[in-house]
Amino acid sequence: MTDCIFCKIANGEIPSDFVYSDENFVAFRDLNPQAPVHILVIPKKHYASSAAVDDPSVWSGLMSAAVKIACEFGLEERGYRMVINTGEQGGQSVPHLHLHLLAGRNLGWPPG
Ligand code: 5GP
Ligand code: ZN
Repeated sequence: MTDCIFCKIANGEIPSDFVYSDENFVAFRDLNPQAPVHILVIPKKHYASSAAVDDPSVWSGLMSAAVKIACEFGLEERGYRMVINTGEQGGQSVPHLHLHLLAGRNLGWPPG
């Protein structure tokens, strides 16, 4: 996807500080953080949303990467939240699958 901002971040066209990178996934800090720790984990391959994923290894890879990052940041004791917004009512604003890793404060429930 040539006009996708997260594809451009993933392929290095837009320079970013990755907090994590492997063969299929990268992670970077959210531009507009909603918590002291707010990291986005994305597949390098473009999927418009969670509903577009046709390969189960995307889920294992994405979740494993997110948990690895959470542990690298020392979040496992105090806790963290993983969120995937999907579609308009789900609050998705960037049409490239991404997982929000949020931590560092008490997070409210239910979400807004
Ligand atoms: P969504 O609302 O789609 O679940 O989440 C999109 C997230 O991407 C938002 O939290 C927004 O702040 C973040 N975001 C949008 N554009 C950029 C960008 O260019 N760089 C970074 N680091 N984050 C972005
Ligand atoms: Zn994309």
